[in-house]
Amino acid sequence: MGMGAVKLTIDGIEVLAGKGATVLQAAKDAGIRIPTLCFHERMKPIGSCGMCVVEIDGISEPVSSCETPVEDGMSVITRSDRLLRERQDALRALLVHHPLECPICDKAGECKLQDLVYEHGITHVDMQPPTSKFTAEYSTTFLRSWPQRCVLCTRCVSACNEIQGIGALDVVEGPEGKLISYDRDKCVSCGECIQVCPVGAILEKKSELRWRPWEVKKVRTTCPYCGVGCQLLLHVKDGRIVKVSGVEDAEPNKGRLCVKGRFGFDFIYSQERLKTPLIRENGEFREASWDEALDLIADKFKQIIAESGPDAVAGVSCGRSINEDSYNMQKLFRGVFGTNNIDHCART
Ligand code: SF4
Ligand code: SF4
Ligand code: SF4
Repeated sequence: MGMGAVKLTIDGIEVLAGKGATVLQAAKDAGIRIPTLCFHERMKPIGSCGMCVVEIDGISEPVSSCETPVEDGMSVITRSDRLLRERQDALRALLVHHPLECPICDKAGECKLQDLVYEHGITHVDMQPPTSKFTAEYSTTFLRSWPQRCVLCTRCVSACNEIQGIGALDVVEGPEGKLISYDRDKCVSCGECIQVCPVGAILEKKSELRWRPWEVKKVRTTCPYCGVGCQLLLHVKDGRIVKVSGVEDAEPNKGRLCVKGRFGFDFIYSQERLKTPLIRENGEFREASWDEALDLIADKFKQIIAESGPDAVAGVSCGRSINEDSYNMQKLFRGVFGTNNIDHCART
């Protein structure tokens, strides 16, 4: 047993865990899955959904494994009839006021509530009219809420506060329990709340395009907008990007994205994109070939340098270009033009 390690049994299997680890983490490390809904790897445990309950020898009531630290000699049970009933009850409580809109909900197919309800064999709930779990609907250019679908896991609130440091979302007391409040003035439309919401309660507006999660191919790439290099998943249907999400377990962003990285992909399909170089003549642009455009640029550089010296020109390379292109650009300015006037737009 290593330094600071704790020995316990989970479902009869002997497990070693680091001191301070939670039972949920220890189980995961040992390959034992405990169902969760509100827990998210990148956030402090929330402990609100009641799904990750386990039985521990010597403790009469089941406890949330996401909040319970491991102890030496602990004996944990993660699957039992009692735990199944507890989890089913927790899910039924969520479903009572939840609209079963799966046929029209964009989250269907990757919704944790849908999966958990199916997994736990719930076939009937005495439904009551759906209720809004938000103080008000919210909607920006890029995202909108579906307040009746919210399961009040508060992941979005933790994400907006803990991860993004924005504080646009909060939990407030409503007349019949807690509600999610939203401050539009603070929101920067980063979409982190969409990334972490386990159900279809906050969604991209662009996802109103018709597609289903199982129809898309996920292609990993690097965001082209700046020099940070955030890792993206492009959700591609029939050769067209319909959504972008962050890669949860990859540096440097660990799932986080800014508004540009997450929502700024539709320029790809703009009819206004330039397809050929343009040369301005008498105040008007005309189309030109690459050879003609590059010759013109070279002539202008030569002319300026001949008249005013090499320091009369400067270059700013683009944050979207690859390292090799930036390297070549500074070589051109230093080695060919003879100036150190070279910079990069993502330097600051
Ligand atoms: S949030 Fe999930 S369970 Fe609710 S309607 Fe959408 S897919 Fe169905
Ligand atoms: S989009 Fe970003 S800033 Fe706005 S509520 Fe969601 S997490 Fe907070
Ligand atoms: S909007 Fe989504 S993430 Fe936020 S509390 Fe509701 S279900 Fe959880």
